[in-house]
Amino acid sequence: MDPNVEKFMARVKARNPFEPEFHQAVQEVAESLVPFIREHPKYDHARILERITEPERVVLFRVPWINDKGDVEINRGYRIEMNSAIGPYKGGLRFHPTVNLSILKFLAFEQVFKNSLTTLPMGGGKGGSDFDPKGKSDNEVMRFCQSFMTELCRHIGPNTDIPAGDIGVGGREIGYLFGQYKRIRNEFSGVLTGKGLEWGGSLIRPEATGYGAVYFAEEMLNTRGDSLKGKVAAVSGSGNVAQFTVQKLTQLGGKAVTLSDSNGTIYDPDGIDEEKLSWVMELKNIKRGRIKEYAGKFGCQYLEGKRPWHVKCDVAFPSATENEISKDDAETLLENGCHVVSEGANMPSTPEAVEVYIRAKILYGPGKAANAGGVAVSGLEMTQNNMRLPWTREEVDNRLQTIMKNIHRTCVKYGTGQDGFVNYVNGANIGGFVKVADAMLAQGVV
Ligand code: NDP
Repeated sequence: MDPNVEKFMARVKARNPFEPEFHQAVQEVAESLVPFIREHPKYDHARILERITEPERVVLFRVPWINDKGDVEINRGYRIEMNSAIGPYKGGLRFHPTVNLSILKFLAFEQVFKNSLTTLPMGGGKGGSDFDPKGKSDNEVMRFCQSFMTELCRHIGPNTDIPAGDIGVGGREIGYLFGQYKRIRNEFSGVLTGKGLEWGGSLIRPEATGYGAVYFAEEMLNTRGDSLKGKVAAVSGSGNVAQFTVQKLTQLGGKAVTLSDSNGTIYDPDGIDEEKLSWVMELKNIKRGRIKEYAGKFGCQYLEGKRPWHVKCDVAFPSATENEISKDDAETLLENGCHVVSEGANMPSTPEAVEVYIRAKILYGPGKAANAGGVAVSGLEMTQNNMRLPWTREEVDNRLQTIMKNIHRTCVKYGTGQDGFVNYVNGANIGGFVKVADAMLAQGVV
């Protein structure tokens, strides 16, 4: 490791103990940025790297609520306001039992670079709770969301911090959160994105992350004179990102053969077509069932406790959660012919897996570039809210495609090495950094 990266990381680890995911995210960025900053000492003089790894604000709060049996339950709520140099804090809320400070700080940190890459004026933030919506009734989820927002509403606002969804926070949760914000603050504003279409939401927002990850894969393939047409893809997860990844991939002539959840993977070599996908959407979004049921319904294999990375495929779309592809998984993927990885999830590949991709010079789009379509359309939702004028589906989708092309171009600009290989990790980290760092320089030591 570069001794300057090592020194920098020793400081980060000492200041943020017991936060392995945050260390992992920072180290990946530092490895790209330290050599770049050496050539641009103005960032070093202003200690931008030290400042950018220190959240501007962290809010941590108690979320008490009453379950259907009448018992009191207590969860913990968080909002990490990481960086507002180029716009108000923007980033999702995650409701999942694994949520902790380390995970949210890693996500907020990634968000700063991702939001910058979109070219839209959005700072970075992230939040959530260790609340698990799985197995809860709608009324329990509503009571939890109301209690969560009762505290959060003091810290956010349409020009301050605009949360959105993430794992465990979809349309239903955003609705309950928005309702409570509106009631307490007595204002109807664009304080959250991912809203329903009838009350300020944007067309294409639910689709945006998955569609964006597919557009990004297509852009990467185009650099090698290839496309997604006829490609076989392994997709993990079966939530928002996974569903719309499968949809767009199918529309572009590719074939998704897997989906998963935290219990296991379904493998359908015939492909998950539009009809099967509609069934999955109903299962996951309305009935809130498990992906195992797909195997029973369509007569394919269900692999209990397994992830999808051992199946034969050309492309992988990890769309579930962080660190879901280990070094061994990455090696297996490559042995089976996979030569494109486009990350719908945030940091789904471990650092060792990333090393495997880079060494093999496959097309690897890291999450902060490949999944930026979600926050990009959230930014477009904010614009439409401010104008009080909705755009058509085509208009939003065209803008999304343009943004994904621009992100890809930025990665190529900053990530192309002397041998012509595009290291999208370096490209995304440096491309995302420059705009934020320059804004921080211009705004003085704040
Ligand atoms: P959802 O809650 O809609 O779906 C998450 C999916 O991933 C579910 O199938 C879930 O299975 C699975 N999953 C979650 N945690 C784990 C785990 N620890 N192990 C195995 N499987 C797991 O979330 P999204 O689709 O919105 O988010 C997926 C990923 O995409 C996350 O990394 C998120 O940060 C990222 N992302 C999302 C964006 C968005 O717009 N929604 C934007 C950018 C990135 P189960 O039902 O069993 O929990």
